[in-house]
Amino acid sequence: MKGTLLFLGSGGSLGIPVIGCSCEVCLSSSLFNQRLRPSVLLILGEKIYLIDAGPDFRIQALKYHIHKLEGVFLTHSHYDHIGGFDDLRIFYFHQKKALPCLLSRETFKQIKIRYHYLMPSEEKFFHFKILEDDKGKVLFEDLQVRYFSYTQKGTKVTGFRFGNFAYVVDILDYSKEIFVALEGIEILVIDGMAWEKTQAHLGIHEVIEISQKVGAQKTYLTHVAHEIEHKKTNQKLPDGVEMAYDGLKIGLEVEI
Ligand SMILES: [Zn+2]
Ligand SMILES: [Zn+2]
Repeated sequence: MKGTLLFLGSGGSLGIPVIGCSCEVCLSSSLFNQRLRPSVLLILGEKIYLIDAGPDFRIQALKYHIHKLEGVFLTHSHYDHIGGFDDLRIFYFHQKKALPCLLSRETFKQIKIRYHYLMPSEEKFFHFKILEDDKGKVLFEDLQVRYFSYTQKGTKVTGFRFGNFAYVVDILDYSKEIFVALEGIEILVIDGMAWEKTQAHLGIHEVIEISQKVGAQKTYLTHVAHEIEHKKTNQKLPDGVEMAYDGLKIGLEVEI
């Protein structure tokens, strides 16, 4: 089935502009350099799925008129990916049913700690579908999803693949298994935090190597820090690799 991927946010954990920063990117008037925390929307006809609900989720939902959700995927439990989890309750109020949420056992444990006050009613607001394995295939709300795992400074992160598209953020340490999971991918969305590897993220050179190894036709860099100026960086990227930006829409082919 054909669908659309909409970038709700393409920024790193601090968002851009960074509070109190007067660097070129943070002061830029270009909308390409203004990045909310990382999240995407998968739009398949009438059905809309969210990947990650960071601290900017409420603003993103208002900006892009997200009035309903079929389900939510959470990659991991860091604040920039789950800081807006509480705001997802609104879909329970609108839809009068628990919002399905797909996540790893490790991420669920953290959600239970951080949003403990929602947990007595967890079955009311959310219906958690927990991934017990590190990789596999699951049918989630009518969508065929392949998932795989890697780590970022000891935190388990889940990557998701839907048909010809995969979403891989906050990747630092990974095994060769990831190349099996991404085999045949056409569109890859992956970290483009900074050119050089940081303590928590691979560098752009390294993610380009991953993308070339799996043979992705199009790679979009997201989770971008303020060291990266959109236009200048785009000019330096090889063919088939582009900077994502907030509001970018791309076409997809997913399995249902
Ligand atoms: Zn800055
Ligand atoms: Zn992150």
